Amino acid sequence: MAETFLPHYADGEVVKGFGRGSKELGIPTANFPEDIVEKLPADLPTGVYYGWANVDGGDVHKMCMSVGWNPYYKNTKKTMETHIMHQFPEDFYGSRLKIVMVGYIRPMSTFASLDELITAIRNDISETDKKLDEPEVQHFKVNNFFATS
Ligand code: ADP
Ligand code: MG
Repeated sequence: MAETFLPHYADGEVVKGFGRGSKELGIPTANFPEDIVEKLPADLPTGVYYGWANVDGGDVHKMCMSVGWNPYYKNTKKTMETHIMHQFPEDFYGSRLKIVMVGYIRPMSTFASLDELITAIRNDISETDKKLDEPEVQHFKVNNFFATS
C-alpha cells in the first residue's frame, strides 16, 4: 500500500526532463535528478501522489506528482515529476524544489488517446485540490521542512 511509505520528503535541484511535452499540455512537471529518485523506498508504488511543494524557499503550494518509469533507462529507473498548482512567472530549472508526498491518488495507467490522458490529469489535479483542503494534511504545509534551508 502506497500510504505505508507516506509522508515522503524530497529536496533537490530541478533538472531537465525528457521533453515529453508536459508544458505543451498546460501541465509542466518539474523533474528531480536521479539521486533524489533513488531515495524513494524501493517498494513505493508508481502512480500519482499529492502533497505540498515550494521552490527556492518560497510559498508552499499544492502539488501533484507522478512517480513512473523512465523510458530513457529502458524503464529500469523511476522518475518523479511534480506539477505545482501555481502560476510561476518563468521556468525554474536549477532551482531548489522541496516536496512532501502525503497521499496517493491512483496507479499508473496507459491511455488510449491524448484526450483521455489530459482528462485523467485534470482529474488528478482536482482530486489533489480537494484532498489538500482537508484539515489533517495542513500541518505538512507549515512543516519546518519548508522553512529551513
Ligand atoms: P521537462 O521535460 O524539462 O520537465 P516540462 O514541459 O515538464 O519539461 O516543464 C517543466 C518545467 O516547467 C519545470 O522544470 C519548471 O522549470 C517549469 N514550470 C513552470 N511552472 C511550473 C509548475 N507550475 N509546475 C512545475 N513546473 C513548472
Ligand atoms: Mg517534466
